[in-house]
Amino acid sequence: MNPEVSVVIPVYNEEEGLPQLFERLYPALDALGRSYEVVFVDDGSSDRSVAELREQFQRRPDVTRVVVLARNAGQHLAILAAFAQTRGTYVITLDADLQNPPEEIARLVAAMDAGADYVGTIRVSRQDLMWRRAASRLMNRIREGTTSIRITDQGCMLRGYHRSVVDAVNHCTEVSTYVPALAYTFARHPVEIEVSHAERTVGESKYSLYRLVRLNFDLMTGFSVAPLQFFSMTGGLIALVALVLVVVLLIRRFTLGSEAEGVFTLFAIAFFLIGVTLLGLGVVGEYVGRIYEQVRQRPRYTVAAVLENEGDTVTLPGPTAAAVTPLLSAERARGAGE
Ligand code: UDP
Ligand code: MG
Repeated sequence: MNPEVSVVIPVYNEEEGLPQLFERLYPALDALGRSYEVVFVDDGSSDRSVAELREQFQRRPDVTRVVVLARNAGQHLAILAAFAQTRGTYVITLDADLQNPPEEIARLVAAMDAGADYVGTIRVSRQDLMWRRAASRLMNRIREGTTSIRITDQGCMLRGYHRSVVDAVNHCTEVSTYVPALAYTFARHPVEIEVSHAERTVGESKYSLYRLVRLNFDLMTGFSVAPLQFFSMTGGLIALVALVLVVVLLIRRFTLGSEAEGVFTLFAIAFFLIGVTLLGLGVVGEYVGRIYEQVRQRPRYTVAAVLENEGDTVTLPGPTAAAVTPLLSAERARGAGE
């Protein structure tokens, strides 16, 4: 029978934090008084995360499933890989680092009981580095201005989605995406609630500045063409101003004679415009690169194994296979890759 609640947790090199997560997550879910499943997705960890997840699976096989990806696909694709495996009516996503307390899941479930099919969250007193908070504020503002996605705090991944929304998301095949925004486009009754936030106590953030910038480009290019329009409009405006300038200079040339002043001003203007042009080209490139990735139609992620307690336990093909009963492996693993 399908569980009422599925909790999806992406894990990427979180060996230090996992024991603590298990310790808090399962009691919080048991306290819900509902049937549930936890779907961990290992996003190509190179530490002991997979081993710890397997141990946890063996401890609570009735309510635990583990999807193991062959290599790092990124948090959002990892979540999508897990979404494809969920069966619950409510699907909750949660980070593995305990920055969002699992105890809050009850409040998300309550909001969905009340009729919401999308529960967004806002972190009160967010516990992250100052540059991260400032960058998030800026990105939230830019996204609000350029897309029709209305999310107050886009970075908080403790979120709830109704099965109908998850099913719609599962039909999407986009390579570069942002799960909360994608889900939002299918939500009919989105709500937002405040949740508490804690500092990362073990391990470190998996997002470098570069990865954050890329992620935000995914969000922007995936849900809006406004940046392209911005450059076409700016280009049009500059061309118009330049035209006026040409006419003024021509008139001046014939009335007052030639002039050789203002050469450096001209340089400054030219460099500024070269900068704008390159930026515009770069933005176009961000779209083109993603289109290119998409049209190649390579698998977005590869599922190496799914550990589940259905009599069809699938196991890691290769050296680690001996650890769990080998059944069905290659066939199912290949089929699950999308
Ligand atoms: N994560 C992942 N794949 C990645 C990067 C991160 O599955 O490529 C997971 C990570 O293990 C964690 C969650 O995504 O459970 C959020 O990552 P992190 O806490 O590093 O992000 P931050 O809180 O700094 O935004
Ligand atoms: Mg975190």
